[in-house]
Amino acid sequence: MTGVRHHIPDPLLVAYVSGSLPQAYSLVVATHLSMCDDCRARATAHEAVGGSILESCGTADLSGGLRQRVFDMLDEPVIETPRYERSGIFPAPVMEALGGLPPKWKSLGMGVRQSILSHDEGGSVRLLYIPGGQAVPDHGHNGLELTLVLQGAFRDETGRFGVGDLEVADDDLEHTPVAEDGVACICLAATDAALRFRSLVPRLLQPIFRI
Ligand SMILES: [Zn+2]
Repeated sequence: MTGVRHHIPDPLLVAYVSGSLPQAYSLVVATHLSMCDDCRARATAHEAVGGSILESCGTADLSGGLRQRVFDMLDEPVIETPRYERSGIFPAPVMEALGGLPPKWKSLGMGVRQSILSHDEGGSVRLLYIPGGQAVPDHGHNGLELTLVLQGAFRDETGRFGVGDLEVADDDLEHTPVAEDGVACICLAATDAALRFRSLVPRLLQPIFRI
């Protein structure tokens, strides 16, 4: 699709291509790749570079078994063919994570809803539904948060994010995303640690909703 303005930063893309990105982030990256020709081309280029660096290493640096495993890994396409097809606003990788079923939305109050796709110590990935004009509770980050817009748009202190745009937020960013008026904003968001909600009520709800 065209019109995407916020893309996958190189270090993230390289980590994804090399298979070293945690699963929660990988899902967001894979979903952006399914929506963005530019990043798909860059991913393919990184994959080719990774392969040629290995070629030039020769066999001395890698034991035979390891070398073969690495080459086998590089032979696997970056963008795997999912078992599920895109459904409505949900690209194939999201449908894969949903197991082909519609999201199970849970209310977070103020019309905001979430559907957790996966959650473990390493991180979590969820769908967020934010009604038009509504703010997501003010939050900072303990780690890296990736947010990909699937429907509508939001704005925060750093800019505007429309369908296909990826926001990368880290420890330094305390932001207040607000959905644009009109259609609800639906995002795919991955975090590697609990968000630090600053107001008391969301903090109390945190263990319940696993925000
Ligand atoms: Zn892109």
